[in-house]
Amino acid sequence: MVLSSGYGQRQLHQWSRQAVHNLDFTIRTTSTLQNDSTNTHISAYGTAATPKANKIPNPGLFEFESKTTENDNIVLPTVGECAAHLELLQAFYHMCVKVSSSTALDAVLGIKPEPRIVYRKKYQGYHKGYTREAVNLRDDTFKERRKTKWPLYLALAATRFLAWAEAVEKVIDGSVAPEAMSLHLPPLDVLMVWHALLLNPSWFRSFEARQLKRLYDTPFPWKAIHKAIDADNRNSPYSLPAESAVWFETNTGLAPDLFEALVKAERSARAEQLLTTHGAPGRSSNTLRGMMVEDIDVILKSRIKLNELDTSLLKCCREAIGTNATITKLVEAVQRQASFVNKMEKQLWIRSPAIEGTLYRAIDRYSKFLKLFKLYPKTMLVPTLDIDLVWHTHQCSPFRYDVGMLKMAGRLIDHDDKIGGVIINPGFTRTKDLFRIRFGQEYQVCHCWDCEALLSAISSHNLKIRLNNEAIARQVHDEVAYYRSVEIAKRKGTFSN
Ligand SMILES: [Zn+2]
Repeated sequence: MVLSSGYGQRQLHQWSRQAVHNLDFTIRTTSTLQNDSTNTHISAYGTAATPKANKIPNPGLFEFESKTTENDNIVLPTVGECAAHLELLQAFYHMCVKVSSSTALDAVLGIKPEPRIVYRKKYQGYHKGYTREAVNLRDDTFKERRKTKWPLYLALAATRFLAWAEAVEKVIDGSVAPEAMSLHLPPLDVLMVWHALLLNPSWFRSFEARQLKRLYDTPFPWKAIHKAIDADNRNSPYSLPAESAVWFETNTGLAPDLFEALVKAERSARAEQLLTTHGAPGRSSNTLRGMMVEDIDVILKSRIKLNELDTSLLKCCREAIGTNATITKLVEAVQRQASFVNKMEKQLWIRSPAIEGTLYRAIDRYSKFLKLFKLYPKTMLVPTLDIDLVWHTHQCSPFRYDVGMLKMAGRLIDHDDKIGGVIINPGFTRTKDLFRIRFGQEYQVCHCWDCEALLSAISSHNLKIRLNNEAIARQVHDEVAYYRSVEIAKRKGTFSN
């Protein structure tokens, strides 16, 4: 196939390894890149070295209105939507890092090292014999206990999602067409649960015996999500628009920012004490750690004056730690997505020079993948990482997904994210073979920055000067090196535009 036929793929991988190892790589400014007369391989899908590409990712990528009226282009996700999806996954990733590493949240939840003092016999010589000496033992459980913040955060997020979904569904009065009603963006934690639920289409369609009609009809708000995330920033911070924050608080009674609500300083002593029971040792040696529903009830029913947000936070905690099976299932759905989120953070396509080409090709490959469903209805088909991204993006807009699936695949396909590797592997091999036979293209390809940039370069329509393979590889290397050095500088905090 194309990438193993002498376009210097091996050489590129070697250069890349060197670049990653050599973190002091000097940063070429954008202007040197622009003036580089050898940079003629810019692909038709606009790889990064275009003069306007100061920002990574390039803002030109985010086109949300479909320009064409062709049906296929309406039913399938667009490059802009897939790019916004990558930004969202980055935001999820960094939220998890922030919660897991926050020492402020450790303190709020009563998680602290508990060193133990033990007395050991020590031999002091023939005359003195043995003495007992106090030894401080390090707390081995501390690291593990810090990890309990994230599942609790997810349970709170799932509780908040249910409150939000109920508020959203209430708005329907039958007089306004659902499409015409714009949905306020929810907070990031709620968005994460909503996103995970949508990736289980059949569960979502009959969600706990009640239909989420409005959420079914509403296309996922990619444009608003893109606007809310600062993807140029290393940590992809998400800022909820002020009017959406007001809508959320008014309609759910909950604080718009869960993290802030948890770590804020001013809180009533009782509420503060209650939160620390999450991580503090139990009252007696055989009581487990963790908040207790009964303790929360005591506070809520007592005459202690709590402010509104503290009351709603405690109620939310009560629900989250209770026995609501839906909350457990939602938390599991988010946790199943973690490996995909991590893979996307590793690939980091969103900051690669070839992002537009990568997504353009992924959408094309996804449409071929759907055709396989129609051609081989009894076969279990397994997606590659790039195809899965487009598939997930499609599922996020349930109405459009169902229409698209019926049209492209001939039926509704459930996306089962619970299937393990034993079933996946033979399915993958079969899909790979069928894809090759049907479309004459390689199914499993390397999606690293270098290979993707190379593919964009050689599929370019703008290639005026015929270059030899070595020259193309060299130019792709320069482009990737620039993007990589920007990324490295961002991580080291030394990048400035
Ligand atoms: Zn590669």
